[in-house]
Amino acid sequence: MPLALLPELSEVRDMLRKFTQRELDPISDIIDKTGDVPPIAREVLHKHGFLGMRLDPAHGGSGASLAQYCLALEEFSRSNRVFTLIMDATSGLTPMAIQQHGTAAQKAKYLPGLSDGTSYMAFGLTEPDAGSDSASMRTRAVRGDGGWIINGRKHFINGGDIADSVMVMTVTDPEKRARGGISAFIVDRGTPGFSVTRVDQTMGSEAVRLAELTFEDCFVPDTALLGEAGDGFKIAMGSLTKGRLGVASSCIGVSDKLIEMCVEQASVRTTFGQKLSERQAIQWMIADSAAELTAARALTYQTITQYEEGNDVGSAASMCKLLCSEMVGRIADRAVQVHGGMGIVRGFKVERFYRDIRHYRIGEGTSEMQRMLIARDMFKNGRVTHL
Ligand SMILES: Cc1cc2nc3c(=O)[nH]c(=O)nc-3n(C[C@H](O)[C@H](O)[C@H](O)COP(=O)(O)OP(=O)(O)OC[C@H]3O[C@@H](n4cnc5c(N)ncnc54)[C@H](O)[C@@H]3O)c2cc1C
Repeated sequence: MPLALLPELSEVRDMLRKFTQRELDPISDIIDKTGDVPPIAREVLHKHGFLGMRLDPAHGGSGASLAQYCLALEEFSRSNRVFTLIMDATSGLTPMAIQQHGTAAQKAKYLPGLSDGTSYMAFGLTEPDAGSDSASMRTRAVRGDGGWIINGRKHFINGGDIADSVMVMTVTDPEKRARGGISAFIVDRGTPGFSVTRVDQTMGSEAVRLAELTFEDCFVPDTALLGEAGDGFKIAMGSLTKGRLGVASSCIGVSDKLIEMCVEQASVRTTFGQKLSERQAIQWMIADSAAELTAARALTYQTITQYEEGNDVGSAASMCKLLCSEMVGRIADRAVQVHGGMGIVRGFKVERFYRDIRHYRIGEGTSEMQRMLIARDMFKNGRVTHL
């Protein structure tokens, strides 16, 4: 019996798989050919109720659980990472932070547009001099008349170039920093003093772009503060913990797809008069991939289930992110090998996946940072949180 995230979700997986093949794969081909995300990508997700799926129905969402969301990420990532990014921008880091910590007015202002496809949000934590060590950020917000004045620079912000609003983490008390001195603000596109100053293309899909955002005497009213002043670091870290389970799920989806492609290729390709599937060297690569995926999936599903049961999954989520992001790198590498020359031909899915998955070991906390969090928990509590 295949591993199930939650038994009641197995039918949902079938539905998601068919939807991905029927609706998303043709759009993925367009994305690969043009290097851009056509409007239909968001429209299709909207039409089928996936935009803002984790948001409360009162705000136009479907009230989906983290398990349902992660299952959708797993299935959509089999097609193209772009779809998981749209999901994140409308149901992930920033939207869920607003749902959890926002005022009634903030929820009413920002959340409905995420579900109906008219708005998009980004998450602004990283700076040129503060990546892994995000608490050393320099972006400052100081009190002004009736609000705050923000100065500083964020970079590597996914979707920052197209986002309608960004959650921006700033230092409000340099003495306290991560211990109550960092605050989160929601800054709208078009706010004077806020501009997109660079857009980076990265390894992987050309359609995925990271933006540099600059704040020069950018005034935001008190109503832009998310949560209490000083809560920003806690809010950001809480979002990232759940985000890591989303990253793990995406890695699982790509791995699953790549293994499936390897089995198909090995079953039809003949060399020296025999199918590749009959060669032990090829079998072992596929077997190693399948064994790693099964173990990583079991850990991730268990952790998601524990989250759904109300447990703090802190460093267990780090373990999932670490294991799954490192695993997908090995599986993509083996997939290229099994496909031979075809595996490195531009326009062929294996080649795109190989480039596209590299960032999973970096974004939302590098592998080294995940190890640090796990080790910290081991030394403090003698075990990993909630396993
Ligand atoms: C595709 C992608 C999307 C992203 N999207 C966003 C986004 O939407 N919003 C956002 O805010 N950020 C985003 N980021 C930024 C990402 O979170 C940072 O790149 C990441 O946290 C690492 O920071 P850095 O790049 O500055 O590397 P650095 O912190 O400079 O690290 C460089 C290397 O040193 C290692 N290292 C650092 N400190 C230690 C240590 N103490 N011990 C051992 N090793 C260490 C790191 O693990 C890494 O290998 C994104 C990044 C990528 C790749």
